[in-house]
Amino acid sequence: MDCVFCKIAAGEIPADILYQDEKMTAFRDINPVAPTHLLIVPKKHIPYLSQLSEAEASLIGDMVNTANQLAKREGISESGYRLVINCGEQGGQLVPHLHIHLIGGRQLSDALG
Ligand code: AMP
Ligand code: ZN
Repeated sequence: MDCVFCKIAAGEIPADILYQDEKMTAFRDINPVAPTHLLIVPKKHIPYLSQLSEAEASLIGDMVNTANQLAKREGISESGYRLVINCGEQGGQLVPHLHIHLIGGRQLSDALG
């Protein structure tokens, strides 16, 4: 499959991988918008959040747990951070493989959109 995040999870293209388990991979965003900018992606190729089945919903909870642990490791647990999931064209999603952005390490803007 021609998917950049599937290829990173499979080790076919390099990335700065910080965490992996049977469900997900977490790595540094190649174009960070803040001192900490990580991506948490499921191993399963789910293109859009809107396609997540009810049975798969607990995966998001597992990914949030990982994000919280990585925020601790990055030293931004106390200062605060933001988790973002973009969905679809108008949601600003560029890579069609579900992912959570973990962003922090500086004061983020109040604006959400
Ligand atoms: P989104 O707009 O939510 O789809 O975000 C996609 C993110 O993936 C962007 O922040 C990109 O900088 C990031 N990205 C794209 N290709 C790579 C890559 N090869 N390694 C790490 N991050 C990437
Ligand atoms: Zn994929």
